Amino acid sequence: MEAARLAYFGLYALQHRGQESAGIATGDGHEVRLHNDLGLVAQVFSEDIIHSLTGHVGLGHVRYSTTGTNSLANVQPMTGEHRGVPFALAHNGNLVNALVLRERLEARGHIFTSTSDTQVIVNQITDSSADTLEEAIAETIPLMQGAYSLGIITPDRLIAVRDPHGVRPLCIGRLDDDGWVVASESCALNVINARFVREVQPGEIVTLNGDGLESRQVVEPHRKACCIFEFIYFARPDSDIYGKNIYASRMRMGNMLALQAPADADLVIPVPETGIPHAIGFAQNSHIPFGEGFIKNRYIHRTFIQPEQRMRDLGVRMKLTPLREALAGKRVVVVDDSIVRGTTTRPELELLRDAGVREIHLRISCPPIRYPCFYGIDTSAGRKELIAARMSVPEIRDFLGADSLEYLNLPNLYKAVGLPRGNFCTACFDNKYPIPIPEQVKATKFELEEQKKG
Ligand code: AMP
Repeated sequence: MEAARLAYFGLYALQHRGQESAGIATGDGHEVRLHNDLGLVAQVFSEDIIHSLTGHVGLGHVRYSTTGTNSLANVQPMTGEHRGVPFALAHNGNLVNALVLRERLEARGHIFTSTSDTQVIVNQITDSSADTLEEAIAETIPLMQGAYSLGIITPDRLIAVRDPHGVRPLCIGRLDDDGWVVASESCALNVINARFVREVQPGEIVTLNGDGLESRQVVEPHRKACCIFEFIYFARPDSDIYGKNIYASRMRMGNMLALQAPADADLVIPVPETGIPHAIGFAQNSHIPFGEGFIKNRYIHRTFIQPEQRMRDLGVRMKLTPLREALAGKRVVVVDDSIVRGTTTRPELELLRDAGVREIHLRISCPPIRYPCFYGIDTSAGRKELIAARMSVPEIRDFLGADSLEYLNLPNLYKAVGLPRGNFCTACFDNKYPIPIPEQVKATKFELEEQKKG
C-alpha cells in the first residue's frame, strides 16, 4: 500500500491527539511532497490528494496547539532542507527553550514564518553543517529542552527521535511486507496491521529504510519522565505505553479509587468517553452497578481541544444528554478521569440534577491538577485557569454542585499504572518539573494572577 494511505489510516487512529489541523508528507526517492491544512483528517484529505502524494516513505501529523496559534502557518509536517536534502518533520510535544533558540537562529539569519516551536526544530537542524541529517539531528538534541517525539522523512528514509526524558510516547512497528512504521501510539499500528516492535528509547535516533533499522543513542537517557496524563486521559485506551495497556491501567485507577474513596450509592456512571474504564473499575470494586448516565453525541469531539473557552462551554450541552430514565431518584457515583478547569464538569453535574439525580458523589481518577503543563498538554494557558490551583477540594465540590468529591492520590495512581514513580512526569500534580522551565517561560503560565495570553 502507498505510504500516504498508511499515514492517512494511522492519522485516523490518532485523531484524538489533535483536531485543529492535519498533514501528510511523502518521499518518492527524489523529492518530498506535502499536503496539510486546518481541519480533521477526513476534512483535509480527499482521495485525489492522497493519490497525488506518491512515494514509499510517508509522515503524518495531527495538531492541537500548545505553542503557537491554530493558524495555517503552524500546520505540520513542516519542511526544510539540510545540505540539499529535503526533509519534512512532525513534532509531538513542546520545547521549553524555543524562544532562546529562535532568537539565536534569527540572529544567524534564519527566517521564521510561524509561531510554533516546530519551526525552531526545523531551522535548528538546517543550521547544522554536519555531514548527514542524522548527525545534524544529533547535534540538535543537546540544544533542545523539553518534550519532543519527532518523525522526520527525507525522499528515501524515515527517522524517529525521542527526547532524552521520553516525555511523549513513540513506538516502532513492522508491516507484513517488511516495511517499518513509527507512531505516537500503538493504536495506530493496529489499524494498519503492523506488529509492535518496541518503543523508541529516550535520547535515541532511529533511521528506517530498505536496509532495516539503524539506531544511535545520542545522549544517555535521563531520568524517564513519561507524561502520566497520557495514561489518565490523553492516549487512546487500546494503546500500550511502557508495556502497559491504557484501558487496563484506567480500570485499575477506578479499582483503586473505589478502595480509597468509597461511596454509598445506587449506580456508578462514567463521564463518557474517557471516564468509561475508570468507572467500570470503580463499579467492580465497590459492587455498585455500572450504568450509562449520559448519552454522548459521537459526532462531537473532545471539547477541550478546541482552544477557546467559548467553544468549550457550548460544547457540553451539544455533547452530553443525561438519561433521565436511568437517573431519576438515584444516588450516583460519577467517575471521570480528571478535572482541569471545572468548566465542563459543572454543567455536566447540572444536567444530572435536572434529570432528577438525588445525590452526586464525584470521583476523579487522578490527583488535583494544580500546576500548568509546559510539555505539550493543553491543561491551561495560565495557572489561574486550573480550578485546583485556586480552590480547596471542598470548595471545588461546592462550586461543581457535588455532594462529595474525592481524587485518586498519587501513590494509588502509580500502583494503578503499575510502574515505579521514577518513570513519570507528575508536575501537574506536584510541581516537580523534570526538565527545568526557564524563568521567563514559567512566568507566562505560573502566576495565579497572570492574564490569559492571547
Ligand atoms: P473540566 O471540568 O472543564 O476541567 O473538564 C474535565 C474534562 O475534560 C474531563 O472529562 C477530561 O476527560 C477532559 N480533559 C482533561 N484534560 C484535557 C485536555 N488536556 N484536553 C482535553 N480534554 C481534557
